Amino acid sequence: MSEKKEYPLEINGLKIDPVIFTQGFVPHCDIPICSGQCCDWGVYMDSEFKDVIMKHEQDVIDAMDAGQIKDSAKWFEKEPEEDHDFPSGKAIGTEVYKTKSGHEQCVFKGTNNYCSLQIAAEKKGYHKWEIKPKYCIMYPITIIDNVLTYDDSHAEKLDYCGINKTENFVHSVFEAMKEEIIYILGEEGYNYLNEYFHKHYKNKE
Ligand code: SF4
Repeated sequence: MSEKKEYPLEINGLKIDPVIFTQGFVPHCDIPICSGQCCDWGVYMDSEFKDVIMKHEQDVIDAMDAGQIKDSAKWFEKEPEEDHDFPSGKAIGTEVYKTKSGHEQCVFKGTNNYCSLQIAAEKKGYHKWEIKPKYCIMYPITIIDNVLTYDDSHAEKLDYCGINKTENFVHSVFEAMKEEIIYILGEEGYNYLNEYFHKHYKNKE
C-alpha cells in the first residue's frame, strides 16, 4: 500500500507540495523559444468554464488565424468527466487539431504558437488571463487531489523547460512562476510562501 504524503503547508485549504521550491525551471515561459509545446495536448478545464469561453465565441474566432478551426462545435470534447479538482466536479477537455505541417495542438493554439483565448482577452482590454483555463495559466504548476504541485508527467515530454532539461534551469519553479502563483493564491498567499521559501530553501543554498 502506498504511503499517504503529508504536506505541512496549506493556504486557503489548498495543500502545497514543497517540490515547487526545489524543482528547477527555465527563467520564465518563453514561447519564441519553446513554441508553447505544453499546449500540444490541449487542456482540461472546469466544465462550467466552457460557458465563459463561449460567451466570447466571436472574439476568440476573430483572434484565430487562417489555419485554426472556427467552428466552435469542434473546440471541446463532447462529454465532461468527473474530476473533483474542479469546483463543479466535472472537467472538459479542449480538442486538438492538425496544422498544415501535420503538427497536433490545442484548438486554441495558433500557428504562431500563441493562445487565441489570451489574444482575444487582450484585444478586448480584459485581464490577459480572463478567459484562459486555470491549468493553462498555472503550468508547470498543477493541482492534483487538492495539492498544488509540479506537473511532472507533462514535463517529461518537453524539450526546453521539461524535467530532464536540467541544463536550461536557472532557478526553482516557485521563483519562475511569481505572477501565476499570485493569480492563484493572491498576494497574501504568495507572500506567505515566499517567506517560507526564503527561510527554508533560498537562504540555505
Ligand atoms: S487553451 Fe490556450 S494556453 Fe491552454 S492549452 Fe490551449 S492554446 Fe494552450
